[in-house]
Amino acid sequence: MTNIFSSNKSPEREMEAQFLTLSRKLEGREWWLWGFAVAVTLMLTAGIVSLTLPQFRPDSESYWLDLKEWVRALSCLVLLFDIYTMYQQLLLQRIRRKLAERDRLFQVITENAADMIAVIDAEGRRIYNSPSYEKVLGYSQQELKSTSSIEQVHPEDRPRLMEAATKARLTGRGERLEYRIRHKDGSWRILESTASVIQDPAGGTHNLVVVNRDISERKWAEDQLAHNALHDALTNLPNRTLFLDRVQHSLTLSQRHPRYQFAVLFIDMDQFKLFNDSLGHTAGNELLIQIGKRLNASLRGSDTLSRSGLPEESAMLTSEAGLARLGGDEFTVLLEDIRDSSDAIRVAERIQERLALAFRVSSQEVITSASIGIAFGAASYAASEELVRDAEIAMYRAKRQGKAQCRVFDQAMHESAMNRLRLETDLRRALESGEFRVHYQPIISLENERVVGFETLSRWQRPTGLVPPSEFIAVADETGIILPLNQALLREACGQLRQWHSQFPSQPALRISVNITPRQFAQEDLAGQMAAILKETGIAPQDLDVEITENIAMEDADKSAGVLGELKALGVHLSIDDFGTGYSSLSRLQSFPVDAVKIDRAFISKMCLDAESSEIVRIIIVLAHNLGMSVVAEGVESAAELQQLRAFGCEMAQGYFFSRPSDSESANAFLRSRQAVNPSGSSVLQAQL
Ligand code: C2E
Ligand code: CA
Ligand code: CA
Repeated sequence: MTNIFSSNKSPEREMEAQFLTLSRKLEGREWWLWGFAVAVTLMLTAGIVSLTLPQFRPDSESYWLDLKEWVRALSCLVLLFDIYTMYQQLLLQRIRRKLAERDRLFQVITENAADMIAVIDAEGRRIYNSPSYEKVLGYSQQELKSTSSIEQVHPEDRPRLMEAATKARLTGRGERLEYRIRHKDGSWRILESTASVIQDPAGGTHNLVVVNRDISERKWAEDQLAHNALHDALTNLPNRTLFLDRVQHSLTLSQRHPRYQFAVLFIDMDQFKLFNDSLGHTAGNELLIQIGKRLNASLRGSDTLSRSGLPEESAMLTSEAGLARLGGDEFTVLLEDIRDSSDAIRVAERIQERLALAFRVSSQEVITSASIGIAFGAASYAASEELVRDAEIAMYRAKRQGKAQCRVFDQAMHESAMNRLRLETDLRRALESGEFRVHYQPIISLENERVVGFETLSRWQRPTGLVPPSEFIAVADETGIILPLNQALLREACGQLRQWHSQFPSQPALRISVNITPRQFAQEDLAGQMAAILKETGIAPQDLDVEITENIAMEDADKSAGVLGELKALGVHLSIDDFGTGYSSLSRLQSFPVDAVKIDRAFISKMCLDAESSEIVRIIIVLAHNLGMSVVAEGVESAAELQQLRAFGCEMAQGYFFSRPSDSESANAFLRSRQAVNPSGSSVLQAQL
C-alpha cells in the first residue's frame, strides 16, 4: 500500500509520471489544435462569404475552377484535422480511463485497508481520510474533517510530527515516525506513520499522503517484554540487571558530585530455606511477595533520609530509593543521596523492625527476620557489581553474628574477601598446573604392629612452601574445586596402592583411606564415580576406606543412610572420622553400615592428662565393639597414649608417634623398614616401648 505513495522510484511511480507528462503534452496540443481549427473555420467561412458578395463575382471559368481547387484543398485540410483530433481524443480517453481506474483502485484500497490513510494539505487539514480512521480511533468523518490533523496528537509528540511534515515537504521524502494519538474514548494509541509527498501540477509539494498504522498492541507487547527482562516475575520488583544499572548510575553521579553519597543494602531473610521446605513452595512465594511489599512500604517516605541538598539535576535523578529482588530471598536497596552512614543504618534498622512483625501466610502466622549488609558507594568502585558484592559480604558477616543483624562493609572484610578471591583463583590455577600432592600417613595395627594402610592427605605445593589442607580444603569445597581435586587424588593413591600391593603383599592387603567433604558427599553419583576409578586403576573395593566425618553423616541422616548404603554395596570399607566431636551417639550410628570409627585426636591427646577423656575413649571403644565396629585412634603422639589404647583393646592407631604424613617416597621407606623388620608380625612396638 505504502508503495503507491512512496517517494522511491518504483515502476508504478514511473508509469504514473509518464501518464502525467503524456496527458500534459496532449492537453497542450489540444489547445493548439482548437486554435488552428477555429482559425481555419474562420478563414473558410470568410472566403466563402466573400465569394457570395456581388462585387467579387467574376465571370471567368478559371476563377470558379480556382475556387473549387481552393475549397477542395481546404476540405482536405479539415478532414486531416478531424482525423488527427479523433486520434488525440482516443489517446486522451485511454489515459483518462487508466487514471479513473487508478482512482478506483486507490479508493478500494484505502477504504478497505486496516491502515489509516489521510491526505493532508499545507495547513494541516485532512482533505481525505480513509474509513479505517473511524474504526481505529473512533472519530467520525465529520469530526476528522472539522479538526486539524495535529489536534488529536499527544502534545509531546506534536513538534516532532510537524518537523517531520516540513522536512517531507522540503525533501519530498517522508520518514517513518511513531507518535501517540488520542482515541475518542480518551485513551492513547500509538501509530506508526509514513508520509509521502504529492506533487502538484506546478511541481510544488504541499499535500502529504500519510499512512498510519496502529501499533499499540505490538508496542505494549514490546514494552511488556522489556519490563520482564528487567523485573522479577514473582514480586514485580526490579531485578539484578536493572538494579546494577541503577547502582552504576549512582556511581557515575558520585564521580561528578563529590558531595553525593549513596549506599547499597543487601537483605537476606534468616532461615528462609527452612520455612520454604516446611511450608512448601507456594507459601514461600507468598511470603516473598509480602516481604517485597513490606520493604517497599518501609522505604516510602523521606523521613528516614536527610538529603545533602544537591543541585536540582541530581536531586531529580535520585529521588527514589531503588528496591530490587536479586533472586531467592535476597533483596537489595539503593539508597541515594544520603548524608552519612547513619542514614543507611537507620534505614536498615527500620527495615528489620518492619520485617520482624508477623506475616500471615496460608492462614499461618510466620515470624521471620532479616540480616542486612551495607556497602557505601565510593570512587574506588569501578563497577556496580563490586559494590553489591561487598554489601553481600557484609550481609554474610551479619549472618555469622546471628540472626537479625546488620553489618557495614569495612576494610578488614575487604581484605579477607580479597584473600578469599585470590585463593579461589589460585586454587583453580593450581589444579590446572598440578600443584597438589598426596601425602600418606600410615595406620598401624596394634595387634601385630604392621601397617594396615595409609590415610591420604592433600598438600598444596606452592613456591612459598607446602600448604596444609586446613588452609584450602574448605574453600575448595565451597567452590566445588574439591571434586576434580579429590578425583585426581584418588586416582593417584590407587596407582600407588597397586604398586605397594605388588611390592609388599600381605593378608589382608594394604588399604588406603580417603576423606570426603560435604560437597563430595552431596554428589549424585559418588559411589559410581569411585567405582569407575577403582576399576580403572585395578583396585578391589575392599582395599579402599572411605572416611566420612560424624558431622557430615549426621546432617541429613536419611540421605546419609542412602549414600552410605550405595558405598557399602560397592564393597568399600566405611569409617566415621573425627568421632566424638559431633553431637551424635554411637547408637545413632548403628543404622549406618559403618565398619570403623576413628576417635578424634582431641580425646587421644588429653587421654593421659585427664581421666574423663580417658574414660570417654574407653567407652567409645567398648560401644563400637558392641556394634561390631573396629576402632582407629587418631593423633597418637606418645608411647603412653599407645599403651592405654592397647589396654582398652583399640585395634588400630595413627599419629606422629609412628609417622607424620609424608610423600610416597618416605611412605615407601617406612613400609620397607616396618614390613621387612617385622615380616612375621612380631611386636616391634614392644621393642620401641
Ligand atoms: P583428618 O581426616 O582428621 O586427618 C588427620 C589430620 O591429623 C591430618 O591433618 C594429619 O596430619 C593430622 N595428624 C595425624 N597424626 C597427628 C598427630 O599425631 N598429631 C597431630 N597434631 N596431628 C596429627 P591434615 O593433613 O592437616 O588434614 C587436616 C584435615 O583436612 C583432615 O583431617 C581431613 O579432614 C582434611 N583433608 C586433608 N586432605 C584432604 C583431602 O584430600 N580431601 C578431603 N576431603 N579432606 C582432606
Ligand atoms: Ca580423615
Ligand atoms: Ca580425623
